Amino acid sequence: MRIETGAAMDIGRVREKNDDGYLVDDPLYVVADGMGGARGGDVASRLALDTVARLAREGKGTLADQLRAANEAVFSRSSKDEAVRGMGTTVTAARVELDEVQLAHVGDSRAYLFRAGDLRLLTEDHTLVHSMVKRGEITRAEAEVHPHRSVLTRVVGTAPDLDVDESTVALLDGDRLLLCTDGLTSMVTEDQIEAILGSEPDPQKAADRLTRAANRAGGVDNITVVVLDAHDDGSAPEPAPRSAGVRRKALRWLVRRGIAALVLAVLLVGVRVYADRQWYVGVRGTHVAIYQGIPATVLGFHFSHVAEERSDLPAASLQALPVWSDLPGGITADSREEAEQIVAQMRADLLAQRKTVAPQPKVSESPSP
Ligand code: MG
Repeated sequence: MRIETGAAMDIGRVREKNDDGYLVDDPLYVVADGMGGARGGDVASRLALDTVARLAREGKGTLADQLRAANEAVFSRSSKDEAVRGMGTTVTAARVELDEVQLAHVGDSRAYLFRAGDLRLLTEDHTLVHSMVKRGEITRAEAEVHPHRSVLTRVVGTAPDLDVDESTVALLDGDRLLLCTDGLTSMVTEDQIEAILGSEPDPQKAADRLTRAANRAGGVDNITVVVLDAHDDGSAPEPAPRSAGVRRKALRWLVRRGIAALVLAVLLVGVRVYADRQWYVGVRGTHVAIYQGIPATVLGFHFSHVAEERSDLPAASLQALPVWSDLPGGITADSREEAEQIVAQMRADLLAQRKTVAPQPKVSESPSP
């Protein structure tokens, strides 16, 4: 799945400080809502996000393990530093892998799935009022307006151990995930959220609209919204793992081709460097020539060029000399001087041959009278 993201964070209209934080680091997406004193909230949310991000990049543990590590980091810090004692944070994290999303969650931030026009809550609030709803003591509607609705029963960073909710959801093409802090859900009803997600196709604009809606409704808390749109870009409706496998195979094939091309290039350069230091005497057209390189062609590449054409030395004139049989294939030399010596020797041999041949007609002419 390819994920297209939109994210928005706003301090709201009442709070003087933003304790929320979020992380968009494909394939990891997290929202956090810190709490605790004048300094604690933003320290807790930032420390938790940093810890999860670092471990995720290092590929250490599951998402839940990373939340537990964040818990240790926040708890350890608050135990040492009086100014942030008792701080904590919610963390709702999503990691997309192939065609599914893994969720790890603690607190009252939320993850929703918006699929085919319907909004579905994927997480459970760790709040006092939610446990009262579960026990049947109050209704969900009563919980929404309960004076203690923001009292958390589980938080990252306030105790040495942490229980993390984990779940996995299979993603379909066109699915939209929403991660948000309670600054959105305490201000905007799920029907309104559903309407905005259903009418705004652009994830960034959807995130902005949700944030504006929370502010219009009062904005009493910091608002954080992350919208994730899942796109299955494989044109055929085949299952995602298979298309991912095909992509991996295609990548491997490309890498192999790349390595093969590199080896070939190094080989050709090597041969070329070697060839540039070699010389030979051969035939160019009808005449003898000195070549730089080697008399060979590899895969259509020529490894030689003419250094000197000897138009004074017709190849045909050398037919009677012993070198004739070697000449068409090239007579190799270790240097240009040596190649020139070979040519000079040919000339000398040719002249000597002409001298020995030339008197013959005279001999045949002389025995007249
Ligand atoms: Mg909040």
